Amino acid sequence: MIILDGKKTSNDIKNEITDTVQAMKDNGEKVPHLAAVIVGNDGASLTYVGSKVRACERVGFESTMVRMPNTTSETELLKEIKKLNDNPEIDGFIVQLPLPKQIDTQKVLMAVDPDKDVDGFHPTNFGRMALDMSTFIPATPFGILELLDRYGVDTQGKHTVVIGRSHIVGRPMSILMGRKGFPGNSTVTLTHSHTKNITQITSQADIIITALGVPGFLKAEMVKDDVVIIDVGITRVPDDSRERGYYITGDVDFENVSKKASYITPVPGGVGPMTIAMLLKNTLLARERHRAANR
Ligand code: NAP
Repeated sequence: MIILDGKKTSNDIKNEITDTVQAMKDNGEKVPHLAAVIVGNDGASLTYVGSKVRACERVGFESTMVRMPNTTSETELLKEIKKLNDNPEIDGFIVQLPLPKQIDTQKVLMAVDPDKDVDGFHPTNFGRMALDMSTFIPATPFGILELLDRYGVDTQGKHTVVIGRSHIVGRPMSILMGRKGFPGNSTVTLTHSHTKNITQITSQADIIITALGVPGFLKAEMVKDDVVIIDVGITRVPDDSRERGYYITGDVDFENVSKKASYITPVPGGVGPMTIAMLLKNTLLARERHRAANR
């Protein structure tokens, strides 16, 4: 059994990006600039955005955090997004979700310039992904592809079962694993909460990608020998015996499933750290595209 080590791989990627940024600086070029908009004071969102800003600093990017109060109206947020769209200094930006309930999330994501949409959530980019065109692949699915690629996991002709159909993980993952190319060329089954006899489906899978947010959902008796397991789930389970008051767990019963798996991602330390690395990669891509467009 081989652990797909997201912590190590994400560090490798960040080191590669650092080298590229250093070369940009040495050539007197503008370095990538990522902005993050956060509305309100949600603790988890502030932690996520803080990690993104720190990651930018680590690789030598410019970063800007735009903080707006919980009472921000949709119009005010849309005005801020227009400013970021129009600002030539900003290569890419993200709007941290969830947004307060007075704001229509879909409307906000639609307002982001697709050329700066480094989260890959705009319908234009999602459509381009589905059509195998160059785009910004959403960071978590992009991170999974990168892990499969760097560990040389064979996906061609394999049966991939994706559990969960969210727009940010399960749905794009199902499209990407079925596309022509590598990683891809899989035969994909997309499952969700209405899927019947899920064990019958998972027990035929060569690769299983779990993205549901149900701790320990995938059990050893649901998988066959040598299966490849990608566990996207991140759930905070309350635990008073720990200093933080909780521990983090995935959707897979790691202890027992890992005994049957050929490759498996741990939680934490698997898909999670890859997400920020791939956001940085998308921001670098945005900078390179803007530079090419301005030549
Ligand atoms: P989500 O929007 O919460 O959707 C969950 C999906 O799981 C839905 O499609 C739901 O089906 C399906 N589902 C729920 N219970 C099920 C069951 N018993 N059997 C089969 N399918 C079931 O999901 P998400 O935003 O993709 O997040 C999923 C997990 O990944 C969470 O733990 C989240 O924290 C984690 N996550 C991690 C990262 C990262 O590592 N960086 C990034 C994003 C998310 P229906 O569609 O029928 O409701």
